[in-house]
Amino acid sequence: MKTTGTENADRANFPQRPAASPFTAASQSTTPFLSSGPVVGSEAFAFRPAPPNAPQTTPSAPQTTRPYLSSGLMVGSEASGFRPTQPVRYNDPSIPRPPSSFVPPPTGTLQHHPTPQFFSTAQAPPPRTSPGQPVFPPPIRAPAGHVPSPPVYLHSQPQISSGQMGSPPQSINYVPSGRSVPPSSSDSLFSAPRSTLQPLQSAFPGYSSKSPNAVTQPPPVQSAPVFTHQGGYGPPPPATSTPFLAHQRGYVPPPPVAAPPAFYSREQMQHQGSGLPMGAVQGLTEDFSSLSLASVPGSLDPGLDSKVLPRPLDGDVEPKSFAEMYPLNCNSRYLRLTTSAIPNSQSLTSRWHLPLGAVVCPLAEAPEGEEVPIVNFATTGIIRCRRCRTYVNPYMTFTDGGRKFRCNICALLNDVPGDYFAQLDANGRRIDLNERPELTKGTVEFIAPAEYMVRPPMPPLYFFVIDVSISAVRSGMLEVVAQTIKSCLDRLPGFPRTQIGFITFDSSIHFYNMKSSLTQPQMMVVTDLDDIFVPLPDDLLVNLSESRSVVDVFLDSLPSMFQDNVNMESAFGPAIKAAFMVMNQLGGKMLIFQNTLPSLGVGRLRLRGDDLRVYGTDKEHTLRIPEDPFYKQMAADCTKYQIAVNVYALSDKYTDIASLGTLAKYTGGQIYYYPSFQSSIHKEKLRHELARDLTRETAWESVLRIRCGKGVRFTTYHGNFMLRSTDLIALPAVDCDKAYAMQMSLEETLLTTQTVYFQVALLYTSSSGERRIRVHTAAAPVVSELGEMYRQADTGAIISLFCRLAIEKTLSYKLEEARSSIQQRIVKAFREYRNLYAVQHRLGGRMIYPESLKFLPLYGLALCKSIPLRGGYADAQLDERCAAGHTMMALPVKNLLKLLYPNLVRVDEYLGKASSKPDELNISRLPVTAESLDSRGLYIYDDGLRFVIWFGKMLPPDIAMNLLGEDFATDFSRVILSERDSEMSRKLMEILKKFREIDPSYYQMNHLVRQGEQPREGFFLLTNLIEDQVGGMNGYIDWIQQIHRQVQQNA
Ligand SMILES: [Zn+2]
Repeated sequence: MKTTGTENADRANFPQRPAASPFTAASQSTTPFLSSGPVVGSEAFAFRPAPPNAPQTTPSAPQTTRPYLSSGLMVGSEASGFRPTQPVRYNDPSIPRPPSSFVPPPTGTLQHHPTPQFFSTAQAPPPRTSPGQPVFPPPIRAPAGHVPSPPVYLHSQPQISSGQMGSPPQSINYVPSGRSVPPSSSDSLFSAPRSTLQPLQSAFPGYSSKSPNAVTQPPPVQSAPVFTHQGGYGPPPPATSTPFLAHQRGYVPPPPVAAPPAFYSREQMQHQGSGLPMGAVQGLTEDFSSLSLASVPGSLDPGLDSKVLPRPLDGDVEPKSFAEMYPLNCNSRYLRLTTSAIPNSQSLTSRWHLPLGAVVCPLAEAPEGEEVPIVNFATTGIIRCRRCRTYVNPYMTFTDGGRKFRCNICALLNDVPGDYFAQLDANGRRIDLNERPELTKGTVEFIAPAEYMVRPPMPPLYFFVIDVSISAVRSGMLEVVAQTIKSCLDRLPGFPRTQIGFITFDSSIHFYNMKSSLTQPQMMVVTDLDDIFVPLPDDLLVNLSESRSVVDVFLDSLPSMFQDNVNMESAFGPAIKAAFMVMNQLGGKMLIFQNTLPSLGVGRLRLRGDDLRVYGTDKEHTLRIPEDPFYKQMAADCTKYQIAVNVYALSDKYTDIASLGTLAKYTGGQIYYYPSFQSSIHKEKLRHELARDLTRETAWESVLRIRCGKGVRFTTYHGNFMLRSTDLIALPAVDCDKAYAMQMSLEETLLTTQTVYFQVALLYTSSSGERRIRVHTAAAPVVSELGEMYRQADTGAIISLFCRLAIEKTLSYKLEEARSSIQQRIVKAFREYRNLYAVQHRLGGRMIYPESLKFLPLYGLALCKSIPLRGGYADAQLDERCAAGHTMMALPVKNLLKLLYPNLVRVDEYLGKASSKPDELNISRLPVTAESLDSRGLYIYDDGLRFVIWFGKMLPPDIAMNLLGEDFATDFSRVILSERDSEMSRKLMEILKKFREIDPSYYQMNHLVRQGEQPREGFFLLTNLIEDQVGGMNGYIDWIQQIHRQVQQNA
């Protein structure tokens, strides 16, 4: 095995770290990468984060201790969840420890909880050992040069049900809805620093004055005329109780701030209502939004016109300030922070209440017209900080005539290698700056030299494991899968190196010899499931271009080979084991197609989801995690050998997605769920999604690390992956459809820097066989005021973290607790924000919130109503919940927001227009509520995963006939929408095609719904109109009022 090259050369310069730190700097010792054989080698070093507070001069110890790394892979709660920071650090009494684990308070005793429960780290009790604290093995000292082969380390708990997972370090507190919120220390909140009156520019040194919020002059008073014809939502609501409100009559748009109607700036409110002298508002920089609400607690009268509630009808609007403040930052599609104003103290952090962290989509498609520059340093080697290993980026500064550069992450002054030297001009800029994308772009890709690999880059490898039991054949799945794979063979990435192989299974395992010299494949059947062996290990995995004709013959004959199969069993587990044995020399993607609940051999499952006695009890959550440790163990093995698993589950019965999904979850894979798959109905969806899975650009054998500046540290990671070491995310395969979230905390009481830098690095093998590092760098200002944090908040990133935290929580707690935690964090944030402003400005019964968070309550509500979290057990099928949970854990921000608040558009008028073309399609989105539906209309509901096409009762018959012909009279569950010989039909199909092109990651299947046709209408549409009250679930107005009441309590 090749060891690291230049990494070793750097070793002597590494400072020594605390003995127990998992960040230790050893290079030749015991990383699992080096020891685990055919994997990628030096990433563990290459991706090492900045050592906190490391002195620059201390030499490195030759032997170091890496408790995490030496124990191999970590599975379980580290990987998925809320493990509170690195426990070893708690040995340092100077560092406050976040709450170790969340234990839901018993109902009824909430009010007795001490205040600190509701704040986080800064006010948390001092460190002490708690029962929930993970116990770590003593540090292992490895002799230099000795590379032991660590066992795969599975978390000691076989299931995900540990208490450590339920809660992030910043406590999510459970308060049953309707119950009063415990008092917060509002006195101290009121005494919050009032430095907020500083102009924005001074709050952010080096901060561009372009900030849209930097309104320092009172705006012209022009609200009255605006307010008479605002919106399009009809007249404002009748005046509510206070004179102030009466005067306001609801909502006036802020003249200078680009905000939609229904919001107005603080300055304006003061002019109109508060009676404060004009001078008092000079220089105010913060603006907020507000809603007037009935202020009678418990009042059922809405007191609020639903039409004026804020709605994200423009979809996800990425925060501009991030890029405007720092034009050298990477695009926000790669990295978004929950607030791009980093708190300078722990006490500030504790008053933020929302997640503090980032969402990363390392391989997001580049913005239109842009390409990621590729940089090859060739013999120079990649320029990095020798201490913290940060990659060269636009924020590194050159000094000493160009001979030194200062690291923006750890501030170390590094020597510029001779080959990379360039003189500085009069402004201190390198004279070659314009030829150096790595110094001018926030996103670059480096070609990695040999020391970033321990073996030649692997070829793209696709291995298919296909169920051929009777239900797989009868559903038509086998035929669709075989045809789709065949149709994609020319487009698989990596020609001519691509490798391919197949296993099929029912009660036995069938291997296929695909050797290129054969004219047709040879099938070998293994029936001994307890002792799986691989016959002909060399010819089961073949080079696609060499064996192409054999592969073609195999795929052509596959459906007919099993057409008369009556076998009802499934040796699923043994089949995966066999596939693993075939693949583990190289790694790659394992695609499993599964129709029948695993019934034979290891990993067999039982119909536990059908056990009604468990539902509604404290044990219900156990149904959402795997019962058999086989699945997690298998996933750990796969990750170790660079195998990503994608599961296509197509059963018509309960199939235990909780267990099957584990394979995808911990290997960076993906779950595709097609309940009751029928080829005649679902064929297009499966075809499209499988084709995308096979042909999209994929990064292989990769690891991801995010570094950040001194004083800040990423502590928890959330998404579908496995953690290798404390901060290295292992991703056997990754693509543009996957995002990951992480939370950070402050390591120091007070940050003294003005800026914090972040760098995301993904080391991977490209399909073309190059080892590469994609690097995204961004900066964010450090602030000393809470108002600024809220103003720079990014609702999309916050919701992405909320989503992942809440879904993880459902694996250990009841659904209602996961929902409640979302609600309570919103309440606490809004209360905190209100306390900043309300009293001084006499806002009375108004609900106020920062403009940046105006959609937060709605998205929070949508999250609570999303399939993984909604209602009780009867409100979504167990498998459906688990599948949706796996999907949502991986979605990029934009896709997640659209899933939560779908597009609803009316199209009948457009279809009726004579000349309109899809290019002219400019249909405005409607609020997602039944009130938007006119029974004379035709509507499309699009959440990115499916279309619901709703036909109003009074829709003109000619439209219906044009679109559906005679089918219009039949039961819609049997109607397939297809293009007919009419202009309207063609136009509708074009619209749908266009919508699909906007969101290509999934194929939206059409579901036709007729107004009033139950239960179909209810199932597909009405329960998903998230603004409406359905069953026991809140509507938008109720939800806002509930939040408002809770905010006001103790405010
Ligand atoms: Zn550094």
